[in-house]
Amino acid sequence: MSQQGYVAAPPYSQAQPGMGSYQGGFGAAPAQPLYGHYGGPPQAFSSPPAGVMKSPASSPGGMPPPPVSSQYNPNVQQNGAHPQRLASPSAAPPTYGQPSHSVYNSMASPAQPPAQQLTNQMSAMNLGGYAPGAMQSPPPPATTSIAQQRFQTPPAATGHPQMHSAPLSSHMAPPISPPQSPITNMQGSGPPMGGQSMAGPPMGGHSMTGPLMGGHSMTGPPMGGQSMGGPPMGGQSMTGPPMGGQSMTGPPMGGQSMGGQSMTGPPMGGQSMTGPPMGGQSMAGPPMGGPGSFQQPGSGPAGLQGYPQQAGQFGGLMSGPQPGMQGGFPGAPGGLSGPPQKKLDPDSIPSITQVIEDDKARLGGQVYSTNIRGQVPPLVTTDFTVQDQGNASPRFMRCTTYTLPCTAELAKQCQVPLASIIKPFAKLPKNEAPLYVANHGETGPIRCNRCKAYMCPYMQFIDGGRRYQCTFCNCVNEVPAFYFQHLDHIGRRVDFYERPELSLGSYEFVATLDYCKNNKPPNPPAYIFMIDVSYTNIKSGLVKLICDELKTLLEKLPREDGAETSAIKVGFVTYNKVLHFYNVKSALAQPQMMVVSDTAEMFVPLLDGFLVNYQDSRAVIYNLLDQIPDMFADTNESETVFAPVIQAGVEAFKAAECSGKLFIFHSSMPTAEAPGKLKNRDDKKLVNTDKEKTLFQPQKGVYEQLSKDCVAQGCCVDLFLFPSQYLDLATMGDVPSHTGGSIYKYNNFQVETDGEHFLRDLRKDVQKSLGFDAVMRVRTSTGFRATDFFGGVYMNNTTDVEMAAVDCDKAVTVEFKHDDTLSEETGALIQCALLYTTISGQRRLRIHNLSLNCTSQLSELYKSCETDSLINFFAKSAYRAILNQPVKNVRDILVNQTAHMLACYRKNCASPSAASQLILPDSMKVFPVYMNSLMKTAPLVGSTELSTDDRAHQRLSVMAMGVEDTQLQLYPRLIPLHNIDVSSEAVPAPVRCSAERLTDAGMFLLENGHSIFLWLGQACPPDVIQNLFNAPSLAHLQQGHMFSLPELDNPLSKKVRSIISELLDKRPNSMKLLIVRQKDKPEMLFRQFLVEDKGLHGGASYMDFLCYVHREIRQLLT
Ligand SMILES: [Zn+2]
Repeated sequence: MSQQGYVAAPPYSQAQPGMGSYQGGFGAAPAQPLYGHYGGPPQAFSSPPAGVMKSPASSPGGMPPPPVSSQYNPNVQQNGAHPQRLASPSAAPPTYGQPSHSVYNSMASPAQPPAQQLTNQMSAMNLGGYAPGAMQSPPPPATTSIAQQRFQTPPAATGHPQMHSAPLSSHMAPPISPPQSPITNMQGSGPPMGGQSMAGPPMGGHSMTGPLMGGHSMTGPPMGGQSMGGPPMGGQSMTGPPMGGQSMTGPPMGGQSMGGQSMTGPPMGGQSMTGPPMGGQSMAGPPMGGPGSFQQPGSGPAGLQGYPQQAGQFGGLMSGPQPGMQGGFPGAPGGLSGPPQKKLDPDSIPSITQVIEDDKARLGGQVYSTNIRGQVPPLVTTDFTVQDQGNASPRFMRCTTYTLPCTAELAKQCQVPLASIIKPFAKLPKNEAPLYVANHGETGPIRCNRCKAYMCPYMQFIDGGRRYQCTFCNCVNEVPAFYFQHLDHIGRRVDFYERPELSLGSYEFVATLDYCKNNKPPNPPAYIFMIDVSYTNIKSGLVKLICDELKTLLEKLPREDGAETSAIKVGFVTYNKVLHFYNVKSALAQPQMMVVSDTAEMFVPLLDGFLVNYQDSRAVIYNLLDQIPDMFADTNESETVFAPVIQAGVEAFKAAECSGKLFIFHSSMPTAEAPGKLKNRDDKKLVNTDKEKTLFQPQKGVYEQLSKDCVAQGCCVDLFLFPSQYLDLATMGDVPSHTGGSIYKYNNFQVETDGEHFLRDLRKDVQKSLGFDAVMRVRTSTGFRATDFFGGVYMNNTTDVEMAAVDCDKAVTVEFKHDDTLSEETGALIQCALLYTTISGQRRLRIHNLSLNCTSQLSELYKSCETDSLINFFAKSAYRAILNQPVKNVRDILVNQTAHMLACYRKNCASPSAASQLILPDSMKVFPVYMNSLMKTAPLVGSTELSTDDRAHQRLSVMAMGVEDTQLQLYPRLIPLHNIDVSSEAVPAPVRCSAERLTDAGMFLLENGHSIFLWLGQACPPDVIQNLFNAPSLAHLQQGHMFSLPELDNPLSKKVRSIISELLDKRPNSMKLLIVRQKDKPEMLFRQFLVEDKGLHGGASYMDFLCYVHREIRQLLT
């Protein structure tokens, strides 16, 4: 991207014939009713909605096409239409017919076309059907107190204790002398974790039941006498039946992996869910799969008699806690008894893989033009090309709903969170143009005088072009003389297409000195590599691995497009309980080491020669990297410091007046006497108690202040951890998670099995494109405003989102609240402005604009919801909430809000139907799967079997994720490989994430962006094993086979390896391949990712959860 200002241009300036009929038809309003935002018949997309498009009549003559810039990608056809943000109300939303939703009832009457249609696809079923009474009398949604309870925000940070200062002493060592570190005792820091923790699962029995039941009075549903409030998660009730029923066709899943338990009872295929997900034994009658059985008498089609309410159906079946599992959590399939049930077709409940494939089929490969206010983009899982026509690409901004409710009351009524997930540096595919840069010279960007919004396509020029009205605050501003331009006959500036800030959703401004610290242009950023050289890291070979890698990796530091070398400076520190700084000035023949042993008040002992240009100092740096592993080869030092290491980085940046990033490679809890010293506070007894939150809370004090210092200096911290035991990740991750950094963790690191995995992460991380020293501000049009921010950010006040750095994978989730009424006519605008320093040290403003619709009809709101974004919001808000509330309360809130959102839809948007039908908005039909999966994630599940550090790690990682990453994390891809066409380029379509999809003779790949498995069924054909492993059978696979596939010269081996490497390339993190055989012990690790099944550590199966939610919905409606 060039820096000289405004490089606007052009192809988008061309008014093209037929503008208005956008290829792909996104946003085009169908003439016929649609069932779901993309759900309509294909032909519905062909014609643009009357009025929504700008009339093609607007003469092209008025917009002289400026010269075409070569920067524009010819593949991206621009058609010159202006975003229709100000469409008149009459022009706006096309009338849709029936509200879109899915009805899971195959017996739906033909009188309900939409229902019928979807029904056919999903082979519907009725769920629930217990509650007496028709669905007629819905009083106001009787929300439980929990349903309305909000997550508490964490208390504002108070008090920042200063690091205590002590006399500092540094001593300069002679060039490259071994570090002076007293040999200290090798005490392990703290007891090993496993041990202490397992004492009595606090979760046992009833303590878990709660989650779903909290607060509800279970009146209606026949829950049988027992206390089983919440089926799904609640202990016993759900256990056996549901799962057993539908899934176990093949290998009984409980059995093999869970150590002992087995699918005793139930005849597999035969029985089923039909019943009450819970019942089990009672399900006699219903002739068919699901539908009938849940129906209450009379509520359904004739003949399908309901499922008689029975007391006790929730009970009884309990097989009790399984060995190795939490007690009260939904145990395992166990004592299913009762007559065999008819097997319910598991395809009958909404499927994420189906939704993903459908979206791909409809929109994959197409061009998505951002010219329509409030249009819902393709799913994150669909490949498409974006054409910026006035709104930010969905790669930069996605929303939970693209149609906001007009009033706070409406928002409260539906409880759909209003949020945008902003990934300001999202990677763009090669066929999409990078952002244009506008340069307004010394005056800087044009901004509204009152609200300070930046010039954007929404500003309205009036008075012959001499003034403009700000669409954010309505203030009328003078146009500066240099910026004046005449208007054409439709009131648009003549230079409309020549200026990105007038016609595009995303662009950049060159920032003036006013936007720089101390009014000085910034220096180029720096990267400091800080390597823990204590005993463990030396012994494992990690230090040598890092040093060897850096020699090549430093050649690949990010650089500006077209630049020959990177402007980023580099520096090196090694440390254990003291720090060693290195002078690598190019003039030196040998690097020089300087040791700082007083870590109480860290300072940097050298300025000149510490941060250098890699190209200039390459020889000295090579020399250093060669020597480091040898220098510390005989170390006995096992203690480390940590906070002083970060402090040193901040001080170095301060001294060099630059921003940058620290890459810290660290192995153990910092126990050496120094600021930020930590002690083992892991305590599994806290799990599932009110104090569990303390396990996630960082230690206050030193690290809190450090975060503040880092952000003030633009110092981002990336942390690579190599622990063999607990190291208080919640605290150690505090600074990285407040500075836009990443945390990587390699448990029990071994070079042979984890080396490549780590190096892939390191390479990706070092080469990421990013911005430094960033401040983000989100402005909105009147009537609503940004109220909360979730991400790797630091907030000094309520509006400025500070990020020491922000890279291409980091996203900030912004929640909005009403402060007034929104207008359907003008819609709602969001402008995200990010001030940052580029990798070459230029100060820039990156602007993303998005216009949304507003409505007073809830059905419109639901139609515009995006489940993937909703779940991103819920994941982040829940993960923040567990810092302050018991995990169980948080789960309660999630379930209640789920039920509430869906009940509100049912009550206000769905056409009348039997109460026994579960009706979901089409846009949210797979929302329950994600929600259930979220509640089973390590941070929320409340299991003593999970490592506290792993839980904290996942919590912090997710907080910074964008929509793609949370989607994949919560619904892993399970890809069948056994029938693969080795001659095809394509990757087989994933199947539902359930053990039921596995087959004995099958082979599956599973990945979630964090872990990747190759699963081999026990009857996997020998020729497959031969081709992949060069071994005669599964039994011959050895330890060495379990982490990688040998490079064999046959089509199957090549194909499988290429699929795996493609996935590894695509994801932000590297993943360590784990090969598991069916029924081997490690299979447990794999099975925990089968998120439609009952959770290994607790949590309901998807089917159970759906049934439970349905019941909750019915309660809310009666
Ligand atoms: Zn304004």
